[in-house]
Amino acid sequence: MTADVQAPPATQQTFDSLSPVTGDVVGTWPVHSAEDVQDAVERAREGAAWWSSLTFDERAERLTAWAGVMTRRVAQLADVVHQETGKPHSDATLEAALALDHIAWAAKHARKVLGRHKVSSGLLMANQAATVEYRPLGVVGVIGPWNYPVFTPLGSIAYALAAGNAVVFKPSELTPGVGYWLAATFGEVVPEHAVFQVVTGLGETGAALCRAGVDKLAFTGSTGTGKKVMAACAETLTPVVIEAGGKDAVLVDEDADLDAAADATLWGACGNAGQTCIGVERVYVHDSVYDEFLSLLVEKGRDLRAEDSPDTKIGPITMPSQLEVISSHIRDALDKGGKAVLGGLSAVGDRYVQPTILVDVPEESTAVQEETFGPTVTVTRVRDMDEAVAKANGTRYGLGSTVFSKARGMELAERIRSGMTAVNGVITFAAIPSLPFGGVGDSGFGRIHGPDGLKEFTYAKAIARQRFKPVLALTSFTRTAKADGQLAQIITMLHGRGSTLQK
Ligand code: NDP
Repeated sequence: MTADVQAPPATQQTFDSLSPVTGDVVGTWPVHSAEDVQDAVERAREGAAWWSSLTFDERAERLTAWAGVMTRRVAQLADVVHQETGKPHSDATLEAALALDHIAWAAKHARKVLGRHKVSSGLLMANQAATVEYRPLGVVGVIGPWNYPVFTPLGSIAYALAAGNAVVFKPSELTPGVGYWLAATFGEVVPEHAVFQVVTGLGETGAALCRAGVDKLAFTGSTGTGKKVMAACAETLTPVVIEAGGKDAVLVDEDADLDAAADATLWGACGNAGQTCIGVERVYVHDSVYDEFLSLLVEKGRDLRAEDSPDTKIGPITMPSQLEVISSHIRDALDKGGKAVLGGLSAVGDRYVQPTILVDVPEESTAVQEETFGPTVTVTRVRDMDEAVAKANGTRYGLGSTVFSKARGMELAERIRSGMTAVNGVITFAAIPSLPFGGVGDSGFGRIHGPDGLKEFTYAKAIARQRFKPVLALTSFTRTAKADGQLAQIITMLHGRGSTLQK
């Protein structure tokens, strides 16, 4: 490996990470056992005690220093990402840049969002001073996927750290080198204690992390694995954040900028070879602009090739088993009466999949209902935007979505059941650190990013402090009939004027 990462001890069982471009071994990594994971969590406890004792500003200083180290070595990080996922260097650099922005935001805003602040104590408790603050949970376990091995796990890690937690991170078995790189650079700026550690291995190592006594588990991956994670965490009432799959739709209205919509659709569907949780997988286009939109999309897609070349814009499919899923969705779409106007079954090669645009695909096809995770997209004609909204809302998922419309962007965005919507852009919400990121339905629950993402890794601590003796002693057996009468008067004054509901 070109990156300076920690090598595994010689006695341990190991596994290899492979280049999806060549199949060559990129690195050899330890398979951490349940005992190893438990040890890491124990070490993290000490790290958490120390890290949480620092002030927000002290933690922010370290996180900012970490972002500085990562920025200066971003080419090295992009190289590790490229080797393990196959994605083009430029995409790996973009991913790292966006993640850096999140680290900086979390560091800068943690005090304001989480620090102690006063809240109103209300008339009945006017003698109390009420405050709330958000305390770190302790040790947070993070399980990450391979498709964005920097951006995605850091969406949990950076926010958990900024909130004062220690982190034990289990990266995907396809991208362990990226995980080590992140932890090694953090260790350079926080050498005192085990505040951010990595454990590697296969699914069992992730399962062990769920059972290792962490105070919260942040999972990003497929819906199926998310269910297993939740079940394992339920045994110990360990709370979870589940960031799972998606089947994101683009809505194209009759007044949309069609060129921009086609450009965004193509990038959203085929960028990172379609292996994006918030990637575009379906498009619903208003009848009056359908033909023009489709011809623009096909025209732009024709020039795009996935190949093994230094200037390619689309890399290989990182996880070989996904090739069969992509083929099966295309096959199902064609079997059910759909047509490929670009690509098709022959677009699926041994390592690369060429852009594929499918039309006339029935809504019940797996190509419309299930996450394909390849550079494919279905384009469907709708008579109006009501039908577009209904169809967009017609899957079990609800992660991201996109609307292209000049007049009705906000209105349509509000009607889509998804955690995030981009209007007249695509995937833009993920790059805005102050916006929460997450889904509904089979896309999971809980939020990373933004103030919600910081609070996700904390518990609310409420304190009511008596400032002076109460005029009305309500919380005492010494409460008198006179006090009861005064209470009745106060509540009548406060709430008695609410009008009765008319039938
Ligand atoms: P997987 O669900 O296969 O794996 C995710 C992680 O879980 C990996 O680290 C994996 O380890 C680990 N794991 C596997 N089995 C278990 C288990 N029994 N207990 C605990 N952990 C386990 O997802 P992928 O890595 O294939 O990632 C792609 C998926 O991630 C897609 O569905 C995509 O939509 C989703 N995703 C969601 C995002 C979001 O924010 N909503 C963002 C990015 C991706 P190992 O790799 O070793 O098997």
